[in-house]
Amino acid sequence: MSGPLQAGELVLLTDRKDRRYLVTLAAGGEFHTHAGAVDHDALIGGTEGMRVRTARNAELTVWRPTLRDYVLKMPRGAQVVYPKDSAAILMQADVFPGARVLESGVGSGALSLSLLRAGAEVVGYEIREDFARQAVDNVTRFLGSEVTARYRVEIRDCYQGIDAEGLDRVVLDLPEPWQVMDHAASALHPGGSLVAYTPSIQQAVQLRRACETGPWAAASTMEVLHRGWHIQGDAVRPNHRMVAHTGFITTVRRLADQD
Ligand code: SAH
Repeated sequence: MSGPLQAGELVLLTDRKDRRYLVTLAAGGEFHTHAGAVDHDALIGGTEGMRVRTARNAELTVWRPTLRDYVLKMPRGAQVVYPKDSAAILMQADVFPGARVLESGVGSGALSLSLLRAGAEVVGYEIREDFARQAVDNVTRFLGSEVTARYRVEIRDCYQGIDAEGLDRVVLDLPEPWQVMDHAASALHPGGSLVAYTPSIQQAVQLRRACETGPWAAASTMEVLHRGWHIQGDAVRPNHRMVAHTGFITTVRRLADQD
């Protein structure tokens, strides 16, 4: 999206210390930080990337949030898949526009957002009604209500079965993905992929073991280590801190049935 900022739009305000605030613009609205207030009317009609001053003369920059900005700021019930992992999951699962994807659990909808952004048609299975509601709210707030034409969340237990056939992809983020493998084998077409995100390596190992007894091949397990660098003039070094662990990403493809 480009052009002037409009009422009803989500914007991200950043300050000099890179503190970040997500705000929905409303005519007559006011945004308050400890560094003073800004009138929404000073932003509406303005240009993304512009700088404004608060009543106490602090400088803020206004942006349309990226998906990454949004996911890190949106309300969450369940722990979200972090952007570095969502990015890898999209590539590992080979998600494409129009891909028919089953996602479970849905949690806060962070991974749903990435799948939908990549153009997939997503059906989500989530056991908790409150999380399902939160996910749909989070997704529609960022992608608009039009996205519900290709996003549906059902309250159901994925361990009990998948009610679909000929799916392109299955993407899992739940505690016992091995309980889903037989259902996924029935729901995916031959050549389709399954990707499972698991915080513990024990879960990944148990999943890999389950793959050995079904119509699965080309299994792989990886993790993504993201180390930022501090670059300021001649001071150039890796950041002192990094998120050392989030989870493991296991990918496997469905074989054709043969006698
Ligand atoms: N990927 C999500 C986070 C998922 S957290 C995100 O990025 O926001 C794991 C979710 O799996 C939780 O919401 C939990 O309620 C759900 N879950 C656990 N077991 C499940 C099952 N058997 N069927 C469906 N959902 C399940």
